[in-house]
Amino acid sequence: MTEDIIACPDCDLLQRIPEIPPGGKACCLRCGHIIAQNKPDSLGRTLALTFAAAIVLVIANVTPLMGLSAVGRHASTTILGGGLKVWLQGEEITAMLVAFCTVVAPATYIACMLTLLLAVKRRPAPSWVGILLRASKFNYPWAMVEVMMLGILVALIKIADLATVVPGIGMYAVGALIILFAGISVNFDPNEVWNRIRWADGKYPQVSASKEHLNPEMTGQ
Ligand SMILES: [Zn+2]
Repeated sequence: MTEDIIACPDCDLLQRIPEIPPGGKACCLRCGHIIAQNKPDSLGRTLALTFAAAIVLVIANVTPLMGLSAVGRHASTTILGGGLKVWLQGEEITAMLVAFCTVVAPATYIACMLTLLLAVKRRPAPSWVGILLRASKFNYPWAMVEVMMLGILVALIKIADLATVVPGIGMYAVGALIILFAGISVNFDPNEVWNRIRWADGKYPQVSASKEHLNPEMTGQ
């Protein structure tokens, strides 16, 4: 069955995927790249984590990121509030990059993932799910909340001698978001989504319902 043959993403070697036990992996015969994994209930766990990430992203954007107190004055700001201040100081491109990488890209990624994870619950999944999957893969590297977090921590350490810094709820939310994004990428198995999508020629993937992301048969090439 040609449907069972896939190419290694690293070295293009064509091979069949053996039946993989829960939690197991199949590696490329030639280069050792992981070409398939059996992550039990991958989509269910990813959906739960993505829902949590959506809620945390809203919290991270509506609550203060941090507060500063110096000589009797107190100020606090949110993520977008910080971007706005950068814009007002004449650094428009930096402000747009900050807004894109810390708000727009994570929000788009979460929206894509939520939509596709809900859409694949129906079998066969609509073909536009594939477009969303590619879009989310393109989007993910641009969601740089961890870079922002690192930048904030460096800035905090530098100004800690000059002012009293009070971490806001938004800061903890950003920390939680980083962990949730890591959880999503660890739990998500794109192959399981691809195997539920109807093909362009109108056919459906030749996969049994009990092992939707596994191709029976054996390896070799
Ligand atoms: Zn390979």
